[in-house]
Amino acid sequence: METLPTARLLDGVSLAETLRESIRAAAREVGERGQPPSLRVILVGEDPASMTYVSSKTRAAREAGCLAETIRLPESTAPLRLLEEVERANRDDAVDGILVQLPLPPGHDARRVFDSIDPGKDVDGLHPENVGRLVQGRPSFVPCTAAGILTLLDAYEIPIAGANAIVLGRSEIVGKPVAALLTWRDATVTVCHSKTKDLAGICRRADILVAAIGRPGFVTSDFVREGAAVVDVGINRLETMEQAPAHLRDSAHLAEAIARKGRALVGDVDFDGVSRVASWITPVPGGVGPLTIAMLLKNTVDAARRRAARA
Ligand code: NAP
Repeated sequence: METLPTARLLDGVSLAETLRESIRAAAREVGERGQPPSLRVILVGEDPASMTYVSSKTRAAREAGCLAETIRLPESTAPLRLLEEVERANRDDAVDGILVQLPLPPGHDARRVFDSIDPGKDVDGLHPENVGRLVQGRPSFVPCTAAGILTLLDAYEIPIAGANAIVLGRSEIVGKPVAALLTWRDATVTVCHSKTKDLAGICRRADILVAAIGRPGFVTSDFVREGAAVVDVGINRLETMEQAPAHLRDSAHLAEAIARKGRALVGDVDFDGVSRVASWITPVPGGVGPLTIAMLLKNTVDAARRRAARA
């Protein structure tokens, strides 16, 4: 007999909407004291996913009462030219937050670019000074996706202190910062990656499982302990059913989305299977993504508040 889904949804869309209300009010308050918070996004190249993300971020910023502009540089931009553009934004007093959209085209060194951003304008939280502050538990700007994940867990009152938290993925933008935040909140944290042995066995110990690896549907129900909270960070675009792993190929709604829109977004978690085991699960889309944007706006407003306090 087939089991029914038991998991409740961690709804990032409605939480982000609520957060945006308070961000809008804070942006208005800063604006009343001078210039509204302002975000400058630098986009190199024409990667379609990056272009979509950048337009969502700048649209959300404007809707929240911030100023937002995108500097678009061609794919052929030399690394030094990009660093000059960052320096121009560093020196511009009208810019509160700087975001360089990743991934950068081949030939650019993302670390060098993030090293060059003024730490006080680093709303992505990737400058080594901000990373160090996060690890030391005195954060300034926290990377947006990691901050969004903690905000989501807190909003649904999922206990973190004492929980076994397993983080799948160790990237600078998601895995490492989320592991640092969970550690500071007294979870017992294990970080897994491509060399980890017995991944499914380790993941089955999780009270909180965060999947951020960029592999469609990788986390199946045998990775998940009954009652766990599962946070799916992955955003994977599938344009044909052949691109899906074998266990997702009989998914009717995936086939329907691809037939209707020519593509579907799927997370790193096999949503249908895992939602029969877990207690909580994020949908993709509509889980972590909207909170990433909300946290970017929050960081931008925080940067502007500091600027206003200095003035
Ligand atoms: P990334 O930089 O590519 O890092 C992937 C991590 O996953 C690496 O640590 C890698 O291990 C690990 N990994 C890859 N394959 C694995 C496997 N088979 N088994 C175990 N570990 C494996 O990825 P990212 O930038 O963190 O992004 C991860 C996913 O989240 C992507 O789908 C991305 O689009 C999505 N994302 C979503 C948001 C959002 O707002 N929702 C924000 C950022 C990213 P190694 O270190 O050993 O290579």
